[in-house]
Amino acid sequence: MTKKVLIVDDSEMIRNFHSYILKTVGLEVITAVDGADALEKIYGSSEQWAMAITDINMPNMDGYAFIERLREDPEYEDLPIVIVSTEDELQDKERGFAAGANVYIVKPTDPEVLVENIRMLLGA
Ligand SMILES: [Mg+2]
Repeated sequence: MTKKVLIVDDSEMIRNFHSYILKTVGLEVITAVDGADALEKIYGSSEQWAMAITDINMPNMDGYAFIERLREDPEYEDLPIVIVSTEDELQDKERGFAAGANVYIVKPTDPEVLVENIRMLLGA
């Protein structure tokens, strides 16, 4: 079965870029424009998600709130979550991990780094 990944970013360019990277390694991609949209995509369907890759700075609901909300749900407490953000201060990373992210990658995204981390998280 194809693994499905949710990409969350308010930048269309980044959504397209990350989608392209994931599709090259055979993953299926669904995109959301912010945390609120991501929760709608997750709870509005019965999809089985393999992972979420999320930005931090987004309108409506940012990445921290999105991750915290997902981690409150036992169904998603173990879902692999990757943050990809322009914020590269230690405090941002600490906040991301505290929210429940597994990996924190700083933009601009290095495709090889993203793929390596995805493989590690998916055990593939
Ligand atoms: Mg953003």
